[in-house]
Amino acid sequence: MTYRDRSVSCPRCGVELIRKDAREAWSCVKCKGALLDVGELVRELLLVAPDLLPEGGTSGITTLGRRTVARALACPMCAAPMEPVFLGGVDLDRCYDDNVFWFDAGELGLVLEVAQGQREERHKPWLARLFENLFG
Ligand SMILES: [Zn+2]
Ligand SMILES: [Zn+2]
Repeated sequence: MTYRDRSVSCPRCGVELIRKDAREAWSCVKCKGALLDVGELVRELLLVAPDLLPEGGTSGITTLGRRTVARALACPMCAAPMEPVFLGGVDLDRCYDDNVFWFDAGELGLVLEVAQGQREERHKPWLARLFENLFG
């Protein structure tokens, strides 16, 4: 068993998260929250904004902004407090050790909507910055 194969629990409900196939993504059947590996998040973003294909190698996503309020969720992987981050206008939680993001119900859809909207407007400052940080 690899590290990623062990069971992970929802930081909100405590129930076991369900892994999506063999992907680095998990979801909670109770609160509909989702846990995504950075690579999975990038894949999801590229589905809605394929013109933002990376040019270089990958590194960690740099935090684009931080909330000031303290709402530290425990990381489902390592139980350390997650770092609040602000992505595409949505408040998220990230564990820097495991490189995973926690999305409350609907938040992932919101981020993807913003990505798509900004792509359509051909105006995507945060997404462009995200990819610059990721692959620059
Ligand atoms: Zn839950
Ligand atoms: Zn962690």
